[in-house]
Amino acid sequence: MEPSAVSYVCRLSLASKTALRGPLVMAALAMLAVGCQSAPPSKSVVPATESLPASAPLVTTPRNWPDTTSHADPLSFVTRSFHLDLDVDFEKSQLRGTATLELDRVDPNSRELVLDTRDLQIDSVETAPAGSDDFRTTRFVLDRRDDVLGSALRIAMPRDAARVRIAYATTPQASGLQWLHPSQTVGKRSPFLFSQAQALHARSMAPLQDTPWIRATYTATLRVPAGLVAVMAAEGDAGNRRGQTTFHFRMPQPIPSYLLALAVGDLEFQAVGPRTGVWAEPSELAAAAWEFGDAEAMMTQTEALYGPYRWGRYDVLVLPPSFPYGGMENPRLTFMTPTVIAGDKSLVGVLAHELAHSWSGNLVTNATWRDGWLNEGFTTYFERRVMEAVYGEERARLEWGVGHQDLRLALAELKPDEAWQGSLAPDLSSHEGEEGSAVAYEKGALFLYQLERRFGRAQLDAFLQGWFDRHAFTSVTTPQFVAELQDGLMQQSPGKIDAAFLATWIDDPGLPADAEFVQSDTLARVDEQRMRWEQGALTTAALQTAGWTMHEWLHFLNRATRPQPVARLQELDRRFQLTGSRNAEIAHAWFRLALASGYPGLEPALESYLTGIGRMKLIGPLYEDLLKTPQGAAFARRVYAQARPGYHAIVQRRLDHLMQETS
Ligand SMILES: [Zn+2]
Repeated sequence: MEPSAVSYVCRLSLASKTALRGPLVMAALAMLAVGCQSAPPSKSVVPATESLPASAPLVTTPRNWPDTTSHADPLSFVTRSFHLDLDVDFEKSQLRGTATLELDRVDPNSRELVLDTRDLQIDSVETAPAGSDDFRTTRFVLDRRDDVLGSALRIAMPRDAARVRIAYATTPQASGLQWLHPSQTVGKRSPFLFSQAQALHARSMAPLQDTPWIRATYTATLRVPAGLVAVMAAEGDAGNRRGQTTFHFRMPQPIPSYLLALAVGDLEFQAVGPRTGVWAEPSELAAAAWEFGDAEAMMTQTEALYGPYRWGRYDVLVLPPSFPYGGMENPRLTFMTPTVIAGDKSLVGVLAHELAHSWSGNLVTNATWRDGWLNEGFTTYFERRVMEAVYGEERARLEWGVGHQDLRLALAELKPDEAWQGSLAPDLSSHEGEEGSAVAYEKGALFLYQLERRFGRAQLDAFLQGWFDRHAFTSVTTPQFVAELQDGLMQQSPGKIDAAFLATWIDDPGLPADAEFVQSDTLARVDEQRMRWEQGALTTAALQTAGWTMHEWLHFLNRATRPQPVARLQELDRRFQLTGSRNAEIAHAWFRLALASGYPGLEPALESYLTGIGRMKLIGPLYEDLLKTPQGAAFARRVYAQARPGYHAIVQRRLDHLMQETS
């Protein structure tokens, strides 16, 4: 995924304010030096472990390193595989059918299975012994709904039960599903459904142990209206084709629940390589296939760096513009925003990123969201390595440069009570740690770059290949990574880094004073021009921008001093048509600079931007900027009221919170 660019939401202000749960929670709260102290967390926390520094080398288990965002208990039962059998009902905006789970009983004394759900209607629950179809009704209780965690589904498990079959239906407000009217698609003819399970939304699609500590294989059957095509982030049955109404899938590799993904719509496929291809609405297919045409080359390069691709095919699904992220690394089938189809491959870094997740994230997975940098920081580092291998060193340096600036901006925008978010592995126990800020991505990548500088590329690559081999198809934690770093690289080459270095990079907020950055001559020249332009030594007409790609523009706009004189921005806009830019990233950077400078006349363009796309990273910061002035806030509220129905539930929730916070 990509950073949401909106900082973590305090879980307490979102959660239904549940009653105090006794002295343990109070003690825990006292220990949490975080900004949200108005009420206790809605889930009991384990104080002794929550306060462990992430840089301590430790053998971690779900007991001493718990996932505080799931009700599931991996120490009593673990799901090994599951089967979904679902009708896709566009009339009711509902999935309806059964989920059948095959379980291992980790603790022989366990008599209760706890699953995560959110807004699911549970009709019946049955259990059966292993290998038996003799399902018998069992008792179950659905706990009261928590706004972040959802409702725990507690199922009585007879002594011999190893299978559970749940008849259920989703509700139209399912946070992980977006049901689109034909008017919200490119073709305007057919409805569209897509899912987004990361981080805590698989539970709104099916009753599951929704924690990345647990991995399971699955099979699925989807029944869809005639004329539509169903796809999943899994192997499609050979019989799946347009004209069918029943589609079968299997995922033979065990995945964490947040990688469960499906989409249904007017979809067609075009191959771009032997193992790679693109799914899109028919009218977008050709442009998408061109934009992502280097997917096979990227795969080959990533394999050369980090070992074989272990998921079979790698395809890309292009979604309607309301998709809340740049991309989502669903295995075998990356879900992608159409806003990266720029016509010049300038934004295919997102493709390199999602592909790299096939190793960091999908193959070796963060066990809790606190360890998110193991997914996102690794992936951002790999993304740059892949971009370098495919497009050359200077392109990678440009991407690093833009990333460094994103990180500086993200750290600078943290309010004093949010400073804890500047840590690589922040304690999320009282926060909604859904997708994180640029910190997990860019600081995580920068941390790996420090290791590259100190140990050398060859040594780091060998270590990382070993990491993937040792932990393929398992879930990992930060203390575990630290322990292996100590036993591996640090023993092989003593004296290059020490425990203090690790604590500074992993636990402390902000950036260490001796952090090394990737330097780009191209961006340095952009800086030099910009400074002369800002000082008045260079006129707008004299700016030399021939050959600038999106990266130079982003660097120029993001680093420009704020506020800028309006007249100078008007010259810039007149010469380069920035208000009308068709590149979604450039438009975003321009709007931010213009808003910070009180630039007049932006409203029509801004309104069409904010109502036209739903990608959180692009629209979230613009709403935040607008809300800083009374006039901007009035505009933001009016546009939001209009745009909100077209946004994904995840985005609606974040922006609702933002609007409430600032009203
Ligand atoms: Zn990512």
